Amino acid sequence: MSASFERGINAFKEQIDAPVAAFFSSCVRCGLCAEACLFYTETGDPERTPINKLEPMRRIWQQEYSFWGKLASSLGLSRPVTDADLTEWETLVYDSCTLCGRCSMVCPVGNDIAYMIRKMREGMAASGHAPEGLIGATRRAVTIGSPMGVKLPALQAQIRHTEKDLGYSIPVDVEGVDYLLLLSSMEIMNFPEFISAIARIFKHAGVTWTISSEAFEATNSGIQIGVSEIAAELVERIVAAAAKLKVKYVISPECGHAYMAIRWEGPNLIGRPYDFKVVHILELLDELRAAGRLKTSGKETQRLTYHDPCQISRRGGVVQQPRNLMHEIAADFVEMPETGTMNWCCGAGGGVSSNERADEIRLKVFNRKKKQLDQIHPDAIISACSNCRIHLEDGLEEYEMDIPVLSLTETIAEHLLDREQNEGQEP
Ligand code: SF4
Ligand code: SF4
Repeated sequence: MSASFERGINAFKEQIDAPVAAFFSSCVRCGLCAEACLFYTETGDPERTPINKLEPMRRIWQQEYSFWGKLASSLGLSRPVTDADLTEWETLVYDSCTLCGRCSMVCPVGNDIAYMIRKMREGMAASGHAPEGLIGATRRAVTIGSPMGVKLPALQAQIRHTEKDLGYSIPVDVEGVDYLLLLSSMEIMNFPEFISAIARIFKHAGVTWTISSEAFEATNSGIQIGVSEIAAELVERIVAAAAKLKVKYVISPECGHAYMAIRWEGPNLIGRPYDFKVVHILELLDELRAAGRLKTSGKETQRLTYHDPCQISRRGGVVQQPRNLMHEIAADFVEMPETGTMNWCCGAGGGVSSNERADEIRLKVFNRKKKQLDQIHPDAIISACSNCRIHLEDGLEEYEMDIPVLSLTETIAEHLLDREQNEGQEP
């Protein structure tokens, strides 16, 4: 038995806590979760059913922790999990699961399958069975501070461009403001207009904020790959920056898994509560709207729909806020056929987009989003996750659908009331 395989098996055993054991013993093999998973519905491949993705961990649970399983194991009647099994399961656990949690919504006995797949990745990564692309992204997150290798000078360059366009400064390392804004590398490199949109909205609403030069990255590759020690280290960097700048709130930007990581997993990973509150940018924008501090003018007349990023809506609970904001700027807002907490994943979350090996399958399962869009024929799609946006654009191109994809925050910024008047003052 190789050292890495032994490490992996031990990691699996450590991950099998009371909820996981209860899940395995309560599964009635009804198959409902399969029909909720786009990797099964769009391929028809029984290997890609949610519960099959957990099979090696289920076998370890059975052989190590259940009475009959232990007995069968001691009599040589059950086959132990091998390194070859883990090699085979790698593409199921990483390439064919976005941790979207849709399967967890339908399980009649309440099994949180996405939670278990997240745990399964801990054993897979420890045994050396994680995809190269995700290993590289995680290494860059630890050593450089960004999974895409974005360094501070690149952010500073984007900030300089934004400041030149706006005619006023973007706050960096300002102590004692209310909000610390995090950014995803994708926003910095692919959608820098997001920084401009935030600056304009916060100036309009009188929000005091800053970016940290020491911890600007919102994403957390440690969670995606399944290495909790790394995930905790990345959370600690943000906690340290928030303490240094003495902020009251940390804003998670338009990135799905970043919100899940910092808002929901973060305190558990570091083993203590934060001294600040975490808000998703859409939560904050909706609070400002409700308080009368965010005023818009005019509405988009084209038919707009909203794609729910899984970690923001289904796993994060931010469902109504984007709809309040959509009604603020859209005269013709149409929901997708399955929407909110039951919207379908774009197919690229949970580290799938960092894993080039999964390119083919992620585009194949985009067919599910296509089926939704074919029922409502929107003129444009609005979302609140850079990763979703990039994959939606890829998928739409693949299926030859000419539909623009927009950011909700950026669209709100385009509709700010009296923008010119507000832009005359420093924040
Ligand atoms: S979390 Fe999403 S992608 Fe993963 S198995 Fe469940 S439904 Fe499928
Ligand atoms: S829906 Fe729940 S009970 Fe049914 S097969 Fe899936 S995990 Fe098991």
